[in-house]
Amino acid sequence: MRIILLGPPGAGKGTQAKVIEDKHKAIQLSTGEILRAAVAAETELGLKAKDIMARGDLVPDDVMIGIVRDRLGEDDVKTGFILDGFPRTVAQAEALEGLLDELDMKLDAVVEIQVDEGILIGRIEKRATETDGGPRADDNVESLKKRLAVYREQTAPLITFYQGRGSLKSVDGMAAVDDVTREIEEVLGV
Ligand code: ADP
Repeated sequence: MRIILLGPPGAGKGTQAKVIEDKHKAIQLSTGEILRAAVAAETELGLKAKDIMARGDLVPDDVMIGIVRDRLGEDDVKTGFILDGFPRTVAQAEALEGLLDELDMKLDAVVEIQVDEGILIGRIEKRATETDGGPRADDNVESLKKRLAVYREQTAPLITFYQGRGSLKSVDGMAAVDDVTREIEEVLGV
């Protein structure tokens, strides 16, 4: 299975990616997690990304595309992958098409997790209290507002982009976690 999960911060992409990873032998590729690991390890990438992430902006496309190119070239993704947090811009989506062509891989679907924006602040505040090792630097209201604005301006256009490719499926992300998983499996036919 090769899919992209699309949706605003707090939609449940990471939660669903982990469930699907366990059940369907596809690797979760979370660009947010890759970046947070780099920040924690204080690598060159981490030092570059730290402040950008904390304020809720996007890390530059060329940096992100390089990360995903390297990751998709690794052996463990050959059985399948769930992209969580990438692509986030049209430029990233176009670059991904090129990368997948080079690797002779085809996407099965892009799953959009639809949620009402009004609930996102509450969800993220809750996540901030539940995260092991303390809240993420960007799980606060100010950064979340910025991330939502960035989502609307730069990531939401991907919905139309993938509709045009005929690969978009939408699910209701307001339902309980198990129900969302079931709906994703249903639209994917797995
Ligand atoms: P969420 O979806 O909850 O906002 P993520 O863990 O996916 O969080 O991403 C956290 C942050 O990492 C983003 O706000 C952004 O700064 C950075 N980031 C992650 N993926 C990308 C990407 N594909 N392009 C640019 N920046 C990214």
